[in-house]
Amino acid sequence: MIPSAYFPAEASGLWVFLEQEAGKLESVALELLGKGRELADARGLPLTGLLLGHGVEHAALEAIAHGADHVLIADHALLDTYTTDGYTKVACQAILDRKPETLLLGATPNGRDLAGRLAVRLKTGLTADCTNLAFQEGTDLLVGEVTGFGGGVLASIKCAHHRPQMATVRPGIFPLPSPDPTRTGRIEWFSVTLSPGEIRTEILERVRHEGVDITRARVIVAGGRGVKGDFAPLTELARLLGGEVGASRVACDLGWIGRDRQIGQTGFVTRPKVALVCGISGATQFTVGIKDAELIIAINSDPEASIFEEADLCIVDDLFPVLEALIAELREETP
Ligand SMILES: Cc1cc2nc3c(=O)[nH]c(=O)nc-3n(C[C@H](O)[C@H](O)[C@H](O)COP(=O)(O)OP(=O)(O)OC[C@H]3O[C@@H](n4cnc5c(N)ncnc54)[C@H](O)[C@@H]3O)c2cc1C
Repeated sequence: MIPSAYFPAEASGLWVFLEQEAGKLESVALELLGKGRELADARGLPLTGLLLGHGVEHAALEAIAHGADHVLIADHALLDTYTTDGYTKVACQAILDRKPETLLLGATPNGRDLAGRLAVRLKTGLTADCTNLAFQEGTDLLVGEVTGFGGGVLASIKCAHHRPQMATVRPGIFPLPSPDPTRTGRIEWFSVTLSPGEIRTEILERVRHEGVDITRARVIVAGGRGVKGDFAPLTELARLLGGEVGASRVACDLGWIGRDRQIGQTGFVTRPKVALVCGISGATQFTVGIKDAELIIAINSDPEASIFEEADLCIVDDLFPVLEALIAELREETP
């Protein structure tokens, strides 16, 4: 077995990678601070945020308010925007210098990219796309829960002999912690050695995606194959309820609605207050993305549909007249 860059006996502390965009922390970084705080408290560990960027000190304060005890900032003009080379080199320097026991990253495009690179450089393991994290009772072993084979298998994965033990988690899996602006913590600057020649990519243009973020919606009206391509009543109902439209993968695959609204294992994980699920059968790959809704209302014409096992309120009917009636009722209240 190839040893990692440092050994378990040398490692200490729980770290969260604080991914930021233009100085604003990604929501998944805040969610990981919430989970990280819980994990750190269970073992009496300090929680450190690793923050790479340029002029990002305010983000460190935000991280402390959300649970970090300590933020290690690597500030450099070449870290202003994410590059694989720049971020890998500097994160590696910080990790090798401080030797954290555990490192958590968001499973965003950049977080996934960085996590894979770091795992190879540090010769350690990476548990990707965890749906839960816990330390094995009485040990320092992080156990990442991962679904596999289309949701048919739930695997618990640990990294026994290599450090840091690394895991990525998709946005929306853990709840966003409430910030406490009175929390205090230590901010420390890490000296960065990085030159332009070490970064092999050049960013020519940045195009901001203007799509919807359904992970933040308080109300979701989701449709699947059963809506038969007609999302108009769902869109109107979502508007009246101040919510967003979501969809099953089938509805996205059929081109009825944009991929940015897909809920589930290969879509987004949401936790709205209310989810109205219309014409969706309830495959586990879909329900993992909606199961944490406070209230699930399902409309399906098939009384045997498995979505009814997840739903709090079950309406066995054709979805169209039900939506029509709801819309008419709400329009009377909110013209
Ligand atoms: C690796 C993998 C990843 C996947 N990831 C995802 C994912 O992220 N998200 C996701 O959604 N799926 C995902 N899937 C696909 C998933 O397994 C299901 O195929 C999909 O969720 C089914 O979509 P659906 O419920 O819209 O369609 P169907 O399963 O075809 O269900 C349609 C439902 O509509 C009902 N219906 C029909 N007409 C009406 C009507 N008029 N009124 C009321 N009800 C009606 C039917 O009774 C039926 O229950 C994944 C699959 C794999 C293998």
